[in-house]
Amino acid sequence: MRREDRFLMTTRNVEDYLETIWNLHSKKGYIKVKDIADKLGVSRPSVSEMIKKLSENSYILYEKYGGIVLTAKGKKLAQEIKKRHTLLVEFLKIIGVDEQNAQQDACKLEHDVSSETITCLLEFVEFISLLPESSKWKENFQEYLKKRGLLKKKQ
Ligand code: MN
Repeated sequence: MRREDRFLMTTRNVEDYLETIWNLHSKKGYIKVKDIADKLGVSRPSVSEMIKKLSENSYILYEKYGGIVLTAKGKKLAQEIKKRHTLLVEFLKIIGVDEQNAQQDACKLEHDVSSETITCLLEFVEFISLLPESSKWKENFQEYLKKRGLLKKKQ
């Protein structure tokens, strides 16, 4: 990454920050710059700079010695990302990806998929969840993966 790219307000950057702020808020109730830096693996000055930009763009409210709070606009986007994340994790697990990889990859995919793909995935996950237990699709599919040597961990 070029140095001047560090603080760019890319969609991915904004979404990663808002998702992280949302998760930290849900887990701890308060948010510190250090927590965001740890979670995203970036430096504290980078976080501070981004916090300023998110605040200028009305995604969050931020007081220097106070806390970080999502605005309605920020919350809406954060919830959208979170929804996409959960859906992608569910889908990836259905096709045999283990929990850890599913979580990591969902965070990459969630920024780049079209709304058409999201809608189709949502319908697919829903469809699968409506199949009767007796259809044994999951067992059959896992059996198939095993035969192909592709099932690493038991889901
Ligand atoms: Mn994510």
